Amino acid sequence: MENKKLLKSGEFLVAEITPEDIFIPEEFNEEQRMIAQTCRDFLEAEVYPNMTNLEKGDRELMKSILKKSGELGLMGVSIPEEFGGFGQNFVTQMLVAETTGAGYSFSVAYMAHCGIGTLPIMYYGNKDQRERYVTKLATGELLGAYCLTEPGAGSDANSGKTNAKLSEDGKHYILNGQKMWITNAGFADTQVVFAKIDNDRVLSAFIVERNYPGVVIGADEHKMGIKGSSTAQIFYNDVKVPVENLLGKRGEGFRVALSILHMGRLKLGANVIGAAKKTITDSVKYANERKQFGVLISTFGAIKHKLASQVVRLYASESAVYRVSSDVDLLMDKLKADCGDYGRTAIESISHYAVEAALLKVFGSEMLDFVADEAVQIHGGMGYSAEMDVERGYRDSRINRIFEGTNEINRLLVVDTAMKRAMKGEFDLFGKAESLFNTITSINAGEIKDESYFDEKFRYIKNFKKAILICIHGAVKKFEKSLLSEQEVLNNIADMMMETYVSESLCLRVAKLEKMKGNVSVNIDILDVNIYETADIVRRSACEAVNSFADTESAPSIITAIEVLTRVKGINIKNARRRIAGKLIEDNSYKF
Ligand SMILES: Cc1cc2nc3c(=O)[nH]c(=O)nc-3n(C[C@H](O)[C@H](O)[C@H](O)COP(=O)(O)OP(=O)(O)OC[C@H]3O[C@@H](n4cnc5c(N)ncnc54)[C@H](O)[C@@H]3O)c2cc1C
Repeated sequence: MENKKLLKSGEFLVAEITPEDIFIPEEFNEEQRMIAQTCRDFLEAEVYPNMTNLEKGDRELMKSILKKSGELGLMGVSIPEEFGGFGQNFVTQMLVAETTGAGYSFSVAYMAHCGIGTLPIMYYGNKDQRERYVTKLATGELLGAYCLTEPGAGSDANSGKTNAKLSEDGKHYILNGQKMWITNAGFADTQVVFAKIDNDRVLSAFIVERNYPGVVIGADEHKMGIKGSSTAQIFYNDVKVPVENLLGKRGEGFRVALSILHMGRLKLGANVIGAAKKTITDSVKYANERKQFGVLISTFGAIKHKLASQVVRLYASESAVYRVSSDVDLLMDKLKADCGDYGRTAIESISHYAVEAALLKVFGSEMLDFVADEAVQIHGGMGYSAEMDVERGYRDSRINRIFEGTNEINRLLVVDTAMKRAMKGEFDLFGKAESLFNTITSINAGEIKDESYFDEKFRYIKNFKKAILICIHGAVKKFEKSLLSEQEVLNNIADMMMETYVSESLCLRVAKLEKMKGNVSVNIDILDVNIYETADIVRRSACEAVNSFADTESAPSIITAIEVLTRVKGINIKNARRRIAGKLIEDNSYKF
């Protein structure tokens, strides 16, 4: 593991790694597979049979199922043994997030508790706070919530009005304000609440107990989906919070909030994989049962196209998720030597991958929306019936594009964070982009005679990266400091970055798998379809960006370069999709 090459966040734009450098899901060990099976068994035994009642908004039922998952040890995956958990590495944490992701609104409640409700205290708390709270949150004895959003402060999270003032005797902070859209609000025993002390410019974080006088929980919101999860407003009226419950330092709250969001985005990227796997299995099972025109609908080309497209996006997304997860583990191993505290090391390693976290969140949530939408379509009228899981899946999927930072905010972050890291000197982005731009008229596709299958695919990906660099240089040159307000161009660049990172991860995975297994023909079909689609998206996004920053004189030569860099060999994409669908139909379940 130590010999693996580890890239910095965003560095993939200008650097390459080999298949041996990444972790792929096919490498899960026996213990990891057993943990995933325990999660699946839990959903089957405790969650699915109760789904209808959970959807009626039965808070007590959700609370009792959460507690059962705690008793089983499922809440302690990210917590070291010292504080009541069984400290697994980040890859395993992501596998648990993935597997429980198939649990609809239970998954949202569970993830909110284990992630944003617990980890701020584990990562930023002192020994006393960890002993008082984390040990109980790790077992489900206490349930947690995270309170950042306010009526006037959503995406602009630092603009909240909730205020804390030190009491005259110096023993308490007096908290006043209002939070909204708080997951688990209905039953959480502890809340991590963000507020400004006096007239501070930035937030501080506090651990607030539900039973403190002055904490008032609102009624649950009526929501489009995830109806089983409790989401409510919380009001703080002169709540006396002991000074010992200030989390981290005064003014450190915004940093806590942001870094916890990076963690939440990575975990969401894994969570949607589990939901998509279940949805694809539901889709193919139905397609293998439903007959029209005297035959199963799974024999129709149009249905095979949908099934294959679901698989391609999911498999690609999964490749990127576990690539980043093991990067976090590698960085954690490196940092451990310098920093004694597990919590701070963990959050530093996670936050480092901010570019990839935002990218996985956007790609994954849009992947699941696509998969859920096609699942309803494959079910026809039955897909619109509340009796079917795919109907619930369709409604539940939608929230993923909104929370943990909306996809609009995360798209901006993908580009902005990568550029900031490069400006700090973490990798050379601007120099490489400039020299490429200066040789734009002589750019070629880099084709070599008799190159191998994978060499050709990696060359395409290198070319997509060149297209991104050209757009970054052109946009920075034209807009300079006002680039941040050219959101449409940043969106174009973010889309190129996401698609390219995911395609590269997929390519690395299939190349590694081929060395491990030999025959990977269906995985190669997935890669072929993905590269074909990525080339199209990169070309379209790049051309849009170029036409936004270049004048009519310079645009044609830049567009010509983009066309050269996004040219990929034609393949019979229809047959490739049919073979992917064929495997799914034969297995009657997602088994890639
Ligand atoms: C079911 C549910 C559960 C939630 N759980 C929690 C929780 O447990 N804890 C918690 O603290 N919060 C929670 N949230 C809140 C969630 O994180 C916010 O809803 C989210 O951050 C967006 O904020 P907002 O709703 O105020 O939308 P706004 O910020 O008002 O955004 C409205 C629209 O404007 C866009 N927009 C805003 N700013 C920009 C910009 N600078 N550039 C471009 N576009 C922009 C947004 O992308 C969006 O499309 C939850 C929300 C829901 C719906």
